[in-house]
Amino acid sequence: FTAAVPFPLAQYGGRFTVTMIPGDGIGPELMGYVRNIFRYAGVPVDFEEIQITKDSTEDVFEKALVCIKRNGVALKGSIESKYGDVNFSSRNATLRTQLDLYANVLHCRSHPAVPCRYPDLDLVLIRENTEGEYSMMEHESVRGVVESLKVITRRCSDRIARYAFEYAKRHGRSKVTAIHKANIMKISDGLFLETCRNVAKEYPEIEFGDMIVDNTCMQLVSRPHQFDVMVMPNLYGTVVSNVACGLAGGPGLLSGQNYGEHFAVFEPGTRNTGTSVAGLNVANPVAMLNAACDMLNHLGLTQHATLISDAINKTINEDLVHTADIGGENTSLDVVQNIIKEVQQAMKDGEW
Ligand code: ADP
Repeated sequence: FTAAVPFPLAQYGGRFTVTMIPGDGIGPELMGYVRNIFRYAGVPVDFEEIQITKDSTEDVFEKALVCIKRNGVALKGSIESKYGDVNFSSRNATLRTQLDLYANVLHCRSHPAVPCRYPDLDLVLIRENTEGEYSMMEHESVRGVVESLKVITRRCSDRIARYAFEYAKRHGRSKVTAIHKANIMKISDGLFLETCRNVAKEYPEIEFGDMIVDNTCMQLVSRPHQFDVMVMPNLYGTVVSNVACGLAGGPGLLSGQNYGEHFAVFEPGTRNTGTSVAGLNVANPVAMLNAACDMLNHLGLTQHATLISDAINKTINEDLVHTADIGGENTSLDVVQNIIKEVQQAMKDGEW
């Protein structure tokens, strides 16, 4: 799904140029795997790599923003946020707001061969990505008293609600559930809920419901199949997305897509840096590879996307090459080599 306005895509001589931001932790090694697999699959994408880490200067960050604006599309790892450093706002959140990437889409699907409490999971989480609790306006008004502003606007609530209903319509989905805490945050979440209700009236063919966020977390782990498309404000989105990723097998599998009117950024769904597993050849490369496939679909390179995602799915579900996070004993490189083997086999068989 892309926004209504065509994206400016950088393309020279039939090849696309995409910004690559490896980020901290396992980001750089995962990007190496993406490059390697793209080479074997003959993907016509050139990466313009700009490394932003937690220690990068403001200049480098600005350069990365300009680069994404020029290319229209980026593949991104997660940049560590410095806890406790009040003068440093999260680069990840700032990047999303600066590019106005207002919609985060996480498609949560289970894999038949990955241990999962519920088979056949198929949920789509749509998260408002630019405001709410992430407005980054906090201050200590008097010593020991901190105020943190949560900003909910009708405009941003309306566009994310529309995004969710349009997504449901285009993907043949039957239900949208708005997630909120309007019983406590009566004015802010009240506005979000009211706006979703109003948008729902324009889509009578799609069922609409709403649920309080705490109940949602409980329902997700006990009866997840009741959900189809879910739409929610920013902070609930990150919490509920992580619950959904956990249900489907953890941080190593699912991808997340960020869209605005003009730009798109693709990344692993849980946005972890995975610092504790970096450099050990144990990180699951699948979430980043799925993000790369989302990016190829977005660029219209659907045959290449299918070639690689079929190879990923065969590696997980038929060849059973699994890293430790999903209960296996294989290394990151075992997974990557198997995906390359499946890509080469499919190309030899002329399956695409
Ligand atoms: P940390 O910085 O301690 O690694 P994160 O919040 O980045 O923490 O990640 C949460 C947990 O998920 C950690 O245990 C991390 O090792 C794990 N993790 C994140 N990404 C992956 C991955 N791609 N493969 C395997 N484990 C991962």
